[in-house]
Amino acid sequence: MRRMAVAVVGSGPSGAYCTQLLCEDESLDVRVDVYERLPAPYGLLRYGVAPDHTKIKSIASSFAEIYADPRVRFLGNVSVGVDVSLGELRNHYDAVIVACGASVDRRLGVSGEELPGVFSATDFVAWYSGHPDAAVDRFTLNARRVLVVGVGNVALDLARMLVLTPEELRRTDVPQHVVDVLSASSVREICIVGRRAPRFAKFTPKELVELGAHDGADVVVDPTELEHDLARRGEPADPTTRRLLATLGRLSERRPAGRPRRIQFRFGLQPTQVMGAGTVQKVRLDHTDDPSAPPVDLDADLVLRSIGYRGTALDGVPFDRRTGTIPHRHGRVVDGEHVAPGLYTVGWIKRGPSGVVGTNRKDAMETVGALVEDVRSGRCRVTRVAAQDPVDLLRARGIAVVDWDGWRRIEQTEAAFGAQLGRGSVKLHDWVGLLRAAVQ
Ligand code: NAP
Repeated sequence: MRRMAVAVVGSGPSGAYCTQLLCEDESLDVRVDVYERLPAPYGLLRYGVAPDHTKIKSIASSFAEIYADPRVRFLGNVSVGVDVSLGELRNHYDAVIVACGASVDRRLGVSGEELPGVFSATDFVAWYSGHPDAAVDRFTLNARRVLVVGVGNVALDLARMLVLTPEELRRTDVPQHVVDVLSASSVREICIVGRRAPRFAKFTPKELVELGAHDGADVVVDPTELEHDLARRGEPADPTTRRLLATLGRLSERRPAGRPRRIQFRFGLQPTQVMGAGTVQKVRLDHTDDPSAPPVDLDADLVLRSIGYRGTALDGVPFDRRTGTIPHRHGRVVDGEHVAPGLYTVGWIKRGPSGVVGTNRKDAMETVGALVEDVRSGRCRVTRVAAQDPVDLLRARGIAVVDWDGWRRIEQTEAAFGAQLGRGSVKLHDWVGLLRAAVQ
């Protein structure tokens, strides 16, 4: 049997773990092409994980080993669905694994949401992460009061980024314009609002402790909101929820220490309207635990909605619009009642936007397990003999494919650029700079 050819669409954590598991499987003789829309690999590890979470970011070095494997080709700057169709990939490869993530923001669906000053977390994260699609001047941060809607870990990332000191920012790889804007920001108050009671907050105790420990801001939790939750629902049985409430409880007992900024948590409030003349000024919120209570208006010059991500459809792949995911059975893509042969999915586009980086390894084990089982049973047949290398096809179409050496050159340029600024590596944040560095 000739060597099996697999295409992985997306080079983020779920794509990287799939590639690793495919290469590690001793029953397979495989080569893997990893397609990536951006010139740089690692998906949300590079463009989502907060820049100061350097320990998590360092997982990139193990992903680099995977992508440097001689059986693997990284094909960056190739947009599947635009530069090459999914159908073409399916003709060229024995199996295709869709690992393209869920990168679009969700909307509140309230009036005034379109006002200037209202942004999504995805916008802000992309900007501070130096994503090449994010305009340099997208954020000026001359707002004083910021309202963050949603109480997940991304909301905590946003708040923490807004209070990092210039020294802390300079120790990250964020572009210099991001360091400059965040360092000069007028933000003084950040209010983080959850629509349900404190116990239903999605952020994790560890991340909350980290925020509470930061010298850049006093963290304020209203003890009456916690008491109300306990009185109404009693002690939670689940240990993680107990830890979460205990952490919020400890924060609620703290006295402000005169830190430069203030981060306040509010719970049980659902935004119903964004108000302002020409730009956002207030957000109206209803009490969800007490519909008879009058709504509250919170002042805000900047609103960040951090209410989760959504996947988008990829042409040629079945898609469930309601969940924003690809329908599947154990990672095998399902089209109506039928399993689409040789087509698999993994990561956020498979299971929705949840979990930490490591969650994707378990997810990839399921998907690659299904693929291996299908090869053994003959459901996924290693028969196609590609007439042409897809890379030749792409180059013939004028696509400047960034291979692994190209990415290494980008990395070297980022390191050299950072050194000039007296910092560690600093991200190149624009398409032209990235593509130029890739061919230097
Ligand atoms: P998330 O954990 O799903 O949190 C979304 C928040 O938005 C929830 O509080 C949710 O409330 C709220 N929400 C949703 N729709 C809403 C609406 N229409 N109105 C008001 N509130 C609404 O999502 P995330 O923060 O984007 O994080 C995504 C995943 O990445 C999570 O698994 C997260 O743990 C992970 N992550 C991890 C880290 C880390 O480990 N350090 C950092 C960042 C992200 P309900 O609960 O009521 O729906």
